[in-house]
Amino acid sequence: MPLTDKCLYWLGKDAPQASFFEQVGIVGTVADLPDVWGGILCINVDDPKEQNDTLKDMFSHPKFWSWSVYVGHDTPYSECLSDGVFNEKLAYEQWQNTKVKLSKITDRSKMEPLVGWLGINRHRRIKPVKLVESLSVYRYPIIEALYPELFSSYRFIVSETKREMLEAETLVDRIRVCKQCNGGHLNYVEVCPNCKSIDIDVQTSLHCFTCGHVGEQQSFLRRGKLECPKCITQLRHIGVDYDRPLETHICHNCSHLFVEADTISHCLSCEAQTEISELIVQKIYQLKLGQLGEYVYQHGKMLQAPELSIKGKVDAGYFENILLWLNKVALRHDEEHLLLSMHLPRLEEYSSLYGDSKLFALLDQITNRLNGLFRDTDICCQYKQDLLLVLMPKTKLSTMPVLQDKIEKLTQLIEEDLFTLHVSAFKIPDPTLNDSVKVWLAETVGSIYGSR
Ligand SMILES: [Zn+2]
Ligand SMILES: [Zn+2]
Ligand SMILES: [Zn+2]
Repeated sequence: MPLTDKCLYWLGKDAPQASFFEQVGIVGTVADLPDVWGGILCINVDDPKEQNDTLKDMFSHPKFWSWSVYVGHDTPYSECLSDGVFNEKLAYEQWQNTKVKLSKITDRSKMEPLVGWLGINRHRRIKPVKLVESLSVYRYPIIEALYPELFSSYRFIVSETKREMLEAETLVDRIRVCKQCNGGHLNYVEVCPNCKSIDIDVQTSLHCFTCGHVGEQQSFLRRGKLECPKCITQLRHIGVDYDRPLETHICHNCSHLFVEADTISHCLSCEAQTEISELIVQKIYQLKLGQLGEYVYQHGKMLQAPELSIKGKVDAGYFENILLWLNKVALRHDEEHLLLSMHLPRLEEYSSLYGDSKLFALLDQITNRLNGLFRDTDICCQYKQDLLLVLMPKTKLSTMPVLQDKIEKLTQLIEEDLFTLHVSAFKIPDPTLNDSVKVWLAETVGSIYGSR
């Protein structure tokens, strides 16, 4: 196995005689590739599915975000993951540029894979692919490959765009998805506005002025003339004896005559019937690195001094350090602080019932309400997806009932039936916290989850 850093790795048939690269190393699978940063691979296989699977497999291994990957033949899927169709000269030049960028990253192992992947090659974009066999129709292969444990790549995109890790570049499509299962396979069907039956037809009716009878045109035909089947009046002149009603549809279920049918959506995946206006609209974008993403790429980490309020909540690592420090200060100076936890136990359920966009709207509402409650000196952290921790310096546990009352009043303002919030409080200092803040928090979080 050649291991020079000018080696092109080749998976599949027709390995070229290299002129720009010093060597060509043939590999059978992704597992044969060396464990190095910033290599280059070309996948040249006939079966598009094998090519797609190999690409996906590759990006699910750490480090490979730093590699350049080319393919023998383009597919819509490979366009989302590879750097294009292999051309030795172009690939070599791009690879050199990529390696220069990579060499400037000081701690590659700590780099967020997606940020690193986008940062070292500025031609790269997060692209959606349309997969008709998939529930959500549109998927983001690079997100799914780099973060295989994610439940929804769309939700990831929405939240990362919101905090400006990513930035939307081009709108690719706008789709409607089922509010129950987020499925994109919907059938739009016209129904009776009265009883919602799908058993409706177009029908031309006549309206007899003499007796007021309305019926299908066919039933008025007698011996080649128009005659009302009810009052036997001959209908000679339209507008004088009879007219055609505006209602041109009939329901075979309830006999209702109507002008215009209602349209509802029928989810082909979960059978849910939904009014069109209640479907969730998803905007499918092609994306690039956002402002915060650029910062993280340049500095290798999150902002060091975030605003100490829920408006600019801190990340988990930062929160742990502050908690440990405050605990030590409290022990030494005999002070008392409060750690408040807010658990939103039905968040996951909410998301599966109403969809991602509504979940984010709810989180927004919660944030807005809570922003008014805390002081500038309180430090807030979304420690788990459904768990907010707030560190309130110089607050005694005895003030908890007042606080809880306030929070309850605020949450009652949130207009969602499913919304519940459980508040618990913990006294700081706790001498056992000094041993390991991570273990202490894990136990505390466990007790919060366990008590429900
Ligand atoms: Zn009907
Ligand atoms: Zn009549
Ligand atoms: Zn559905």
